[in-house]
Amino acid sequence: MTIPHVGPPVDAQTIDDAEAHLRERGMRVSTARRLLLETLFAAERPLSAEQIAAGLDGRLPRSDLASVYRNLEALEQVGLVRHFHLGHGPGLYALASRQTQELLVCERCDAVLAVDPGELDPVRERIRADFDFEARFVHFPIVGLCARCASAPAEAGEADR
Ligand SMILES: [Zn+2]
Ligand SMILES: [Zn+2]
Repeated sequence: MTIPHVGPPVDAQTIDDAEAHLRERGMRVSTARRLLLETLFAAERPLSAEQIAAGLDGRLPRSDLASVYRNLEALEQVGLVRHFHLGHGPGLYALASRQTQELLVCERCDAVLAVDPGELDPVRERIRADFDFEARFVHFPIVGLCARCASAPAEAGEADR
C-alpha cells in the first residue's frame, strides 16, 4: 500500500471550518464528504473506516466502505484528517485538529500513552544525528512495553504474537 501524500494539518474546529477549507482547495463538499465530516466530528475517538461506514453504531447513516476510503484519503491529502495504526489493528482515522499528540503503545497490554510531539524531539534529533534519518511517529506510534509490563515477568506464549 502506498502512503498517500499528507497535507500539513489543518486546525478545523467545526464542520463549517472544514467545509470552507475544502472549498478553498477547490474540492466539492458532496453529501458523502459532509456525512464523513459529521461522523468524524461526532466521534469520541479515532475510528476505523469500517466503523465510519457503519455510521457510528447506527447514530448516523451507513456509507459505502469504498467511498469512505476514497473520501478519507481526499480529506487526508488536504490536511483535515490523519490516520495511524495501533499495533496490528486497522488504520484509525481522526480529525487532524484533534490528533495532535504522538503515541507510545504497549504491545503486551495495548496501553496507549499520548505525548506532545516536542517531548519526542530529542529522540528525533538523536536519530537524525546518528543515522541521517527523519524519524516520524505519527503514522506508526512507538511500540514497546509500558512501565508495568516491562517490570512484570514475560507471559507464556508472548513470543508467538
Ligand atoms: Zn497507514
Ligand atoms: Zn503494558
